Amino acid sequence: MEDRNEPVDLVVKRDEGVTITFADGHVAQFNLVDLRLGCPCATCRGLRDQGEEVWPRPGSPTPLRIQDARLHGAWGLNLTWNDSHATGIFPFDALRRWSDGQPAYGRDSGLSGSPD
Ligand SMILES: [Zn+2]
Repeated sequence: MEDRNEPVDLVVKRDEGVTITFADGHVAQFNLVDLRLGCPCATCRGLRDQGEEVWPRPGSPTPLRIQDARLHGAWGLNLTWNDSHATGIFPFDALRRWSDGQPAYGRDSGLSGSPD
């Protein structure tokens, strides 16, 4: 991971979203729905590949909320949602690219557009 993609501050607002300050001073904000829709886990990738919405699913509680957030090693953020979905790990370097308006991953793997 490049140094500039290293997070130096991380703020999780369960009802709003996630704000990450990177080592070079860049501040990236992600809202809840963008993060949930861009979930990089295999289940969500599969749904998107089939052209389905990953959220809300039938029975999903609304509004969306983060139940828990924890670091996954030094490279990623694991979010647990109020629909009990918890398998997505968001790598910081992918979030950085996404925030810069670039695709974070390949086209069909989520986080493919700008959060704006
Ligand atoms: Zn997922």
